[in-house]
Amino acid sequence: MATPRPGGRIRLLDERERAGMDPALLEMVEYRKSGLSLNWIVGCPLDCGYCVRHLFGNYSLKVPRALTDDAEAFAALMRHRFFRPHATPVQLLNRATDPMLAPVKPHLFAMLRMLDDARLTNHVLVITRWRVTPEDCAALNGLRHVRVTLLVTYSGIDDDRIEPVDSTVAAESLRLAYAHADRFRAVLYWRPLVPGLNDTDTHLATAMELSRHAHATVFTGLFFRDEIRDYYRAHGLPEPYEHTARRKVFPEHLERRVLAAAASRAPGGSALFRKTSCAVSYAHGLADYNGHVGVR
Ligand code: SF4
Repeated sequence: MATPRPGGRIRLLDERERAGMDPALLEMVEYRKSGLSLNWIVGCPLDCGYCVRHLFGNYSLKVPRALTDDAEAFAALMRHRFFRPHATPVQLLNRATDPMLAPVKPHLFAMLRMLDDARLTNHVLVITRWRVTPEDCAALNGLRHVRVTLLVTYSGIDDDRIEPVDSTVAAESLRLAYAHADRFRAVLYWRPLVPGLNDTDTHLATAMELSRHAHATVFTGLFFRDEIRDYYRAHGLPEPYEHTARRKVFPEHLERRVLAAAASRAPGGSALFRKTSCAVSYAHGLADYNGHVGVR
């Protein structure tokens, strides 16, 4: 695997661009409820209507830009006060871009290589809805120490005002990743599941079929915050819920239907989870996802 030069093919943000950015986006290492998230590249052209970049006023940045070079991003993670070698789960480039975009991917793999060269065995989560190639899988299989999980976001949403990228792209990526996975694990990240948008019996059955091509499946709802609702309204998109919410929304009746669809599917579908950490632990056959056992 070729390791790109620091900074790679993506231009660093200049001072003026940095000054105009939400300070939260300039924080490369984010403490999340079950690990650390490392985001040193921002910007994405995929235009998902529910993108969390609405919350940072960053949705209009379509060309990925780097906050710093890959080596400095790695160093920032290593010196973070909550990073524990071999224990803290790490998510890479999951907030403000897609790690499998062509210009972003060399940086993702450079980071994975640095983590692996440091012989770290932490869980590393890579979340994408974009294209995964056999070469990507070979590179992931070539990592010797880090425990990589590739989570492929698939929604089945066919309203291209809300999700312009066809869900078949993600479905293909998942099938390919699962078929090639040797040292890494491939998880179906079925989200966002939204009433009235992608919850017909056909949608559920299609996702259940796809779950055969994954080591585990996670399903979750929509993050519908004020900023995202405003975007929906400004663009005349159907609003999925009457009210916004701080956490992701998942109606109970829909959960029951998902569980019923899972119970009646053909044998061979992967196990279903509501929590990413549970799915990743299961996929790797490793308990104690974030190394909390034994910590008083
Ligand atoms: S792929 Fe991710 S970062 Fe890009 S627009 Fe969609 S939700 Fe936002």
